[in-house]
Amino acid sequence: MLKTEVKTFSMLIDGQWTESSNGKTFDSVNPADITDVVGRFPAGTTEDAIRAIRAAEAAFESWSNTAPSKRAEILKKAASLLENRVEQYAEELTREEGKIIFLARAEIKRSAATFRFYAEEGLSFGGETYPVDDANSVVYSIREPLGVVSVITPWNFPISIPSRKIAPALITGNTVVFKPASETPLIALRLVEALVEAGLPAGVLNFVTGSGSQLGDPLATDPAIKAITFTGSTETGRAIQNKVSLTTRTQMELGGKNPIIVMEDGDIDLAVNLTIKGGFDLSGQACTGTSRVIVMRAKADEFVSKLVEKTKQLKIGNGLDESVEVGPLANERQFKTVSEYVRIGQEEGAKLQIGGMRPEGELYEKGYYLQPAVFTDVAPNMRIAQEEIFGPVISVLTVDSFEEAIRVANDVEYGLSASIVTKDIATASRFAKRIQSGTVKVNRTTTGNLINAPFGGLKNSSTSTFRESGRVGLEFFTQIKMVYLGY
Ligand code: NAD
Repeated sequence: MLKTEVKTFSMLIDGQWTESSNGKTFDSVNPADITDVVGRFPAGTTEDAIRAIRAAEAAFESWSNTAPSKRAEILKKAASLLENRVEQYAEELTREEGKIIFLARAEIKRSAATFRFYAEEGLSFGGETYPVDDANSVVYSIREPLGVVSVITPWNFPISIPSRKIAPALITGNTVVFKPASETPLIALRLVEALVEAGLPAGVLNFVTGSGSQLGDPLATDPAIKAITFTGSTETGRAIQNKVSLTTRTQMELGGKNPIIVMEDGDIDLAVNLTIKGGFDLSGQACTGTSRVIVMRAKADEFVSKLVEKTKQLKIGNGLDESVEVGPLANERQFKTVSEYVRIGQEEGAKLQIGGMRPEGELYEKGYYLQPAVFTDVAPNMRIAQEEIFGPVISVLTVDSFEEAIRVANDVEYGLSASIVTKDIATASRFAKRIQSGTVKVNRTTTGNLINAPFGGLKNSSTSTFRESGRVGLEFFTQIKMVYLGY
């Protein structure tokens, strides 16, 4: 790719495009080719975050009193702008984060669809009336916006996750301070630009870029922050949760260690395909990505040999190449962490059947490429079977019964997504009942969830306060006031 001068972008505070208060910047770098700097962004400071919160606070009264139909119109217009620019934005997303272009396009389209969904749903979302014995009164609830909401998001779905938080926050009349992950500020900025171009008034959405250590404290503890919607690692989520006041509402969507159980009656080719897709799409960097396969002993050899064969055939490379199936890891920290887990797995005594190394060749030296890995002989208590790796590493565990499979599947701190491959409806139903997981799939990948259905985890995968996505996704952003009206 021809290298051009690096473009410097800005934060948005109170409708003004602005630099960091100390003038410092950081670079967003292409993980497929680290000589390609995608953009330069302000390294926001605590002072900047506070300014953004004050702007959101000042904009609240007017925005919360803006006609809902007007708010919906802005969301729909932003959706159209995203759709019109899907090719440009998908390319930027791939350059910035590494995911293959096909998935980047899908993510931009999904973000636009999320804006449309909440523009519609928000217009029929409100309180309820309640039966009351007093014939001369009416009792009803009002749903009110909360005030200023912090939106803190990860890099792995850098536009669709912000969309499913910002759209319901705005349609219900809240104002927002949005901090994206530092790996993916450009695509986050594109979302903000679309909303501004669609007519969002100044201060309603503020955008600050930079490190969590600089921006995180005010975004969690400023008295004006009424709610924090966060998606990221369990570790960061816990740190934020421990800081917030009693009256700050939180919604934390966190890590996972998602299993797929392969039953004896299951279709083995289907199980292999679901594992490859769930485990290696996005280079294993999906919160709902498959990281454990729990397979019945009678089918283990056939499953493993087919899985290894298919893994070998995957085309690894720069996601901008339409024929590539697995892009790079998103950053150096990811590359080091995942490589370290490959080492740990071997040290623990698991057998590395394939992958786990940087592929050979000039292309691969420029980026954070790692060949997808499959471990067998994995014991349930090994670290590679317990901890979130967040990379293209599958651990295969062999069991002798459904009971053992459920025990092993549930024996982790997480509970985000889980799947089973079986033809037996009774087994599928028992699985759905007993698996400790917020999303349960049967003969489907652990990854993927509908825009119009609730999403969230159990155990340490979520605070389990309010679900995201779907109509219930609006609840987090409103509070209920009860009115007893006598006449
Ligand atoms: P991360 O926790 O490192 O960062 C998430 C966000 O928090 C980033 O914007 C980061 O800058 C910010 N942050 C970091 N320290 C902070 C602090 N002290 N205060 C405030 N903000 C701070 O996570 P990541 O590496 O960006 O993303 C990967 C993780 O996200 C994985 O654990 C994955 O499972 C999880 N994830 C979960 C879901 C879900 O819906 N459950 C979806 C996607 C990703």
